[in-house]
Amino acid sequence: MQLAQRAAGISPSPTLAIDAQAKAMKAKGVKVINFSAGEPDFGTPEHIKQAAIDALAAGFTRYTPVAGIPELRQAICASLAARGVTYEPADIVVSCGAKHSLYNAMQVLLNAGDEVILSAPYWVSYYEQVKLAGGVPVVVTTGPDTGFKLTPGLLEAAITPRTRLLILNSPCNPTGAVYSREELAALAEVIVARDLIVISDEIYAALLYDGLTHTSIASLAPEVKERTILIDGVSKTYAMTGWRIGYAAAPRPVAKAMTDLQSHSTSNPTSIAQKAAVAALTGSQEAVEMMRREFEQRRNRILAGLRELPGIECNQPGGAFYVFPYIGKLFGRKFRGRVLGNSTDVATALLNEFQVAVVPGVAFGAEPYLRLSYATSMDQIEAGLERLRAFVTELE
Ligand SMILES: *Cc1c(COP(=O)(O)O)cnc(C)c1O
Repeated sequence: MQLAQRAAGISPSPTLAIDAQAKAMKAKGVKVINFSAGEPDFGTPEHIKQAAIDALAAGFTRYTPVAGIPELRQAICASLAARGVTYEPADIVVSCGAKHSLYNAMQVLLNAGDEVILSAPYWVSYYEQVKLAGGVPVVVTTGPDTGFKLTPGLLEAAITPRTRLLILNSPCNPTGAVYSREELAALAEVIVARDLIVISDEIYAALLYDGLTHTSIASLAPEVKERTILIDGVSKTYAMTGWRIGYAAAPRPVAKAMTDLQSHSTSNPTSIAQKAAVAALTGSQEAVEMMRREFEQRRNRILAGLRELPGIECNQPGGAFYVFPYIGKLFGRKFRGRVLGNSTDVATALLNEFQVAVVPGVAFGAEPYLRLSYATSMDQIEAGLERLRAFVTELE
């Protein structure tokens, strides 16, 4: 059957594809070390699960307001206030995951041919979502020289009369880059001067290391906030990826348009998951800090281990749960008779011959890198590092 052009143009998520391949190998009994996961390996904290059980027992199983229950939108406002941004519940739209919030935002903001600036390495879904909304992704490549961060100069150079939107993601998936307040202020100057809208994906705001603190670009000034669609959710902070609760905080007309769009697609996100999200945001944050600390220790271990490997260099990520090593020095070398030419060759060799699942940088619009998620146990990290060492020492 002939598909619509819209569907024919979609590339499937390469990160989910590799994760699925690794899981399939695991199911067959192969001992795979999986560094490809894009989600915390922790379980959802007990008090959050209990809130969903209670909601279910109380019969909280009907439609809710499309944009989310008032209680949850209030809790989101309180959580954002702690970040230095003031929103009212009417500015908040709760959706089926932050991915859905991003999708809704692009659908209501982009006209055909509008250009959207993405800084590579970028999260894969931005690119596809821009295209699905009829927009044109304009990729600006960043590297270790700027800590994988967009600078005002790079941004300026990418702006054309068709530029409408910039997508920022700090802390960043896949690089772990964290923008400082000063760096964001410098970008905000350009955003305001050139009348751009910014989608600020802050899904990893709670996962910061080395004493770094999170700044939301919306908190810098009213004229920045009125151009910002702030995106966050409970998936990464509270180990709740399967619950599908994300949200947008946006200028009122944008929030209304996103709600109207959602009213004709998914309607409200799951009622009991919303109650669980209220418990997550308003309850004890102890588990969040426990997970953050554990991630920081793992980051330290995997970073030190990678830096010991000949031919591999790695920037220190300040947040999220990924490392993004540079593997350019491995290209041109031979593995079992075949020359390694790109990040896919390296990722394929690692998965098939060493049972280590990593995501090739090309999936994020960036060569020559790999993304390794350290949302896995310290034992797996140790074992994975050993296999990586075996791989690089075998190269000719
Ligand atoms: C995981 C992730 C999301 C989506 O999270 P959900 O709330 O589970 O949809 C959005 N942006 C980035 C950068 C992510 O890594």
